[in-house]
Amino acid sequence: MKKEKYAILKDNLKTLGLYRVNEMFAEEAEKADAENIPYIEYLSTLIENQMIAKKERSINYRLKNAKFPFTKSIEAFDFSFQPNIDEKKIKSLSSLDFVNKAENILFIGPPGVGKTHLAVSFGLEACKNRIRTLFISAKELIDDLLIASNNNTLIQEIEKYTRLPMLIIDELGFIPISKEGANLFYQVISKKYEHSSIIITSNKPFSDWGDIFNDDVIAAAIIDRLVHHSHLFMITGRSYRVKEKLDENNKAIDNN
Ligand code: ADP
Ligand code: MG
Repeated sequence: MKKEKYAILKDNLKTLGLYRVNEMFAEEAEKADAENIPYIEYLSTLIENQMIAKKERSINYRLKNAKFPFTKSIEAFDFSFQPNIDEKKIKSLSSLDFVNKAENILFIGPPGVGKTHLAVSFGLEACKNRIRTLFISAKELIDDLLIASNNNTLIQEIEKYTRLPMLIIDELGFIPISKEGANLFYQVISKKYEHSSIIITSNKPFSDWGDIFNDDVIAAAIIDRLVHHSHLFMITGRSYRVKEKLDENNKAIDNN
């Protein structure tokens, strides 16, 4: 191939965004020559690799935008440590059917029992399936809504959260919420209701939500919509963080 033609081809591939084909075509062409590989097979190898690269890019893009605090998978979860979590149910939910049905998942329990871990692992699964996901703490979400409300951009902001097929709201109940905050939070929950999925983690049982939101009526309305189409996990086990700390200490004692 003439040098000039080669350069034009590279340029055209670049313009078309076929960067993987661009990286591969010359080497693959040599291989095809040497091994008598048919043209169509050569082309299909290039296109297949371009498809794989495109999928990878889109997954990485989703992962970056999801803003997970850490990446932990369902496989990394030790169900034997937390036997009151229904492993079968978690595994069946990881097919993400609940996202298509706009159902919610609620993890309620004390600190360290794996609520955030499990929420993140569903989020990871969603990203792998190219489902747009956002992980946000309840405090960050409410602060964001308060700012939007002050800037007269509340409608757009709520719309943004509503359109997300999976919104993970972490640590509801860690910090009390003002009446205005509770109202804005309710708006997000009610807009997403039967429309798109929410995963929530909370260290507080429903009976305490009136105190979290400083308003029993709004708390009841929030619980009502969240729970209606939901999978509820009440976790009562021990803290894995404490277990890890104790394991560390025991090791240190053994080594002495
Ligand atoms: P929570 O959100 O309930 O406070 P996390 O999900 O943040 O707890 O868990 C605390 C830490 O312990 C994380 O590093 C998490 O990966 C780990 N962890 C919790 N439970 C388990 C478990 N059953 N198996 C493996 N790791 C766990
Ligand atoms: Mg947590």
